[in-house]
Amino acid sequence: MENVREVAVPTPFGDASDVFFVGEVDGERIAFLPRHGRYHTLSPYTVPYVANAFAAKMLGVERAVLVSACGGMKKDWKKGDFVLFDQLLDFTGDSPKSMFLKFIIAHVALEGFRCAAQSFKVHRILDDAGLTVHDGGKLITVEQFFAGGWASSIFADRFGAEGIGMTTGREVPPLLEAEIHVTVIGHLTDGNGSEEEGGVSAALVKEQGPVNMARLIDPLRDIVVELARLETTCECATRLDGAMQTDRACFVHRRQQELAPILARYLRDHSKQG
Ligand SMILES: [Zn+2]
Repeated sequence: MENVREVAVPTPFGDASDVFFVGEVDGERIAFLPRHGRYHTLSPYTVPYVANAFAAKMLGVERAVLVSACGGMKKDWKKGDFVLFDQLLDFTGDSPKSMFLKFIIAHVALEGFRCAAQSFKVHRILDDAGLTVHDGGKLITVEQFFAGGWASSIFADRFGAEGIGMTTGREVPPLLEAEIHVTVIGHLTDGNGSEEEGGVSAALVKEQGPVNMARLIDPLRDIVVELARLETTCECATRLDGAMQTDRACFVHRRQQELAPILARYLRDHSKQG
């Protein structure tokens, strides 16, 4: 990334995980945010997912690629494989996951959360880089003290999950509320259910994570450039249309002002219609 600047973006939901590193790759504007903070000082529970999405919107981010370590539950998925998940199950606790908790209410659908057009492109780039990529799968998100071990494998398996992680179920919803196109790249740090890989441990995740990330660095460069140049007409950019529950005539003014960057497109389109 060239011409890198560090940009702090205050939001009504507090600070983001860190500053955003904003710069250019091949002339395209890219922003990078380390979700756990650059020194990994935020746990999956304390990452400010809502502030992160709000700040991304304020920066003008239109497309997000979420790279996330997870365990694989399918026998033919191996550590070091990549998965473009397309279904989410969230079994985390009370960490805030929505910008629309009071006064103005919207329920975005998790069905179809994955931007099909950009995920197709991501898949092709990862394929071309010679990586093993699985297209689609159900990812379950659990609290951190829960992940790992046979018990959570059985738990996840009972719910039909094929991957298990700690962040995605909380990270995706506010990004959808911000009408940002989303792709989740899961990188498998272990074959969680498989006996031959010896289950999961924190040490294994710590060992395999950097190996996976090293493989991803070059293709990620192509991904961010190609996605920046991608033009689509998908419904990701108008998600609030079907999700808004509160009549706009009843919007609480102060809340509407707080959420201005998120609501701008919705209010503009709906004032046109009537
Ligand atoms: Zn999209």
